[in-house]
Amino acid sequence: MSAQSIILFAGRRYYLDKEGYYRANSRTPDRDYLHQRVWKLAYGDIPPGHVIHHKVADLGTVDAADLECLTPREHNARHVEQLRKNMRVAQLNQRKVPLTCKRCGTAYLGQRGWYCSGKCKGIDHYYISQARRTGTRSTP
Ligand SMILES: [Zn+2]
Ligand SMILES: [Zn+2]
Repeated sequence: MSAQSIILFAGRRYYLDKEGYYRANSRTPDRDYLHQRVWKLAYGDIPPGHVIHHKVADLGTVDAADLECLTPREHNARHVEQLRKNMRVAQLNQRKVPLTCKRCGTAYLGQRGWYCSGKCKGIDHYYISQARRTGTRSTP
């Protein structure tokens, strides 16, 4: 994704801040965030008290389709939801152990199994089925 530090949008410059958002500089009147501006131009004014939320993890995203306008309560719920999802992914990753591919010898992380990829599995299964057919045991 874009790691650009400055984005020029609708005649205004937005600078990447420490938190990963693009924001107009402090000298700009009605200093805003790029995602707020993008949303405004696409859908109209942000209703008072509403928050523009990024539906995707990348905060630098400036696509109107990836933004949504929420009340603080809805916004909070979205973040709780995202946090839960991230935790589930982390838990799945924790269950992975170092394995070695039976075909290519590559070390990889996985939950179980013999192959690093479907490709390696496919190659091995091809030779195994061939060996069965011909009665030879060699696999190159
Ligand atoms: Zn949010
Ligand atoms: Zn492999």
